[in-house]
Amino acid sequence: MINYPSSKLPDINTSIFTVMSALATEHHALNLSQGFPDFNCPEPLVELVNKYMRDGFNQYAPMPGVLRLREKISEKTEKLYGYQPNPDTEVTVTTGATEGLFAAITAIVKQGDEVVVLEPCYDSYAPAIRLAGGMPIYVPLAEPTFRVDWDLVKRRISSRTRAIIINTPHNPTGAVMTKQDMDILANITNGTDILVISDEVYEHMVFDGKEHYSVLQHPSLRRRSFVVSSFGKTYHTTGWKVGYVVAPPSLTTELRKMHQFLTFCTATPFQLAIADFLEEEAHYRTLPDFYQAKRDTFLKLMAPSRFKFIPTAGTYFQLAKYDAITTERDVDFAKRLTQEIGVATIPVSVFYHDKTDNHFLRFCFAKGDETLEAAAERLVRL
Ligand code: PMP
Ligand code: GLN
Repeated sequence: MINYPSSKLPDINTSIFTVMSALATEHHALNLSQGFPDFNCPEPLVELVNKYMRDGFNQYAPMPGVLRLREKISEKTEKLYGYQPNPDTEVTVTTGATEGLFAAITAIVKQGDEVVVLEPCYDSYAPAIRLAGGMPIYVPLAEPTFRVDWDLVKRRISSRTRAIIINTPHNPTGAVMTKQDMDILANITNGTDILVISDEVYEHMVFDGKEHYSVLQHPSLRRRSFVVSSFGKTYHTTGWKVGYVVAPPSLTTELRKMHQFLTFCTATPFQLAIADFLEEEAHYRTLPDFYQAKRDTFLKLMAPSRFKFIPTAGTYFQLAKYDAITTERDVDFAKRLTQEIGVATIPVSVFYHDKTDNHFLRFCFAKGDETLEAAAERLVRL
């Protein structure tokens, strides 16, 4: 008899994204749950990956990432955010933003540290904090705007606060932080050793003429920050798992210590292909319009429904309040919709540590128009 060790994350189950995608497949439902596009990435990118594979670039990449890709990331950052990180000491390519976040969190969080997390929040932050021996300190974002209540954040800061994690544009609410938010965050952290982890994977999906404001644009914030992004979102390649982290040299040194033992490096042909494709500025510069058109198509199709929407400001997610349709718990409603109506969504309570249920579902609109039309046709009948 072996006594297996007790779980280090006893309350964590299979992620809702996996659960809902599996349920969608089982019931042949339209999958508007897990966030990924149902259309292909640009053809030249596929050709470039194939070319690099054929040309023999199939061995380990350098641990911090292919230098040319780090240089391109640095150039793009300077073009967009007016700051040019040093590719040698401040840019690290990771296996998706997921690894970047895990490496950043575990690099800095020690036993007993507190990390402020804004809820609802992406599901990977809290487990990483806890595995590092830290404690997530939750601060709610209130509907309908889900803007940060900075006074509340201030009140939750203590002498043990190691870091604050922010996410803009925000999954699942679509809320976008402004320069004013960043100024307040800078004021709050000024004179402290509190670090910032800024999850900016949806940086190229901000709508209605607004612009993404990156922590990298803020001189005093970027000195204390890890900024995490993902090519999966920008290039419709979530399955390639290529992301990156920009951070000051001393933080990057510690981040890389985690990265080298988590994955060591990220797939070589993908890095080389993305480095080349980053030349095609038009792709990411037109992405906001591309996704705004999808959001607007979806909202127009859903207008006759009983779901209530506030148009999302960023990301490829749209929240919908369903309290005019049913009083069911969101998890139950999402499952029933998948099984009976044939549309899979994400119940938003899973993004709260205490499963707060405000009767919201999250729809991913990174789908072809036919998928959105077919889904709306079913949903307006409810
Ligand atoms: N952060 C947020 C907010 C996300 O939505 C995602 C997408 N799953 C990630 C991080 C992880 O990105 P990646 O797929 O590059 O690991
Ligand atoms: N970020 C994606 C989402 O929010 C899911 C990624 C995953 O499945 N881990 O839907």
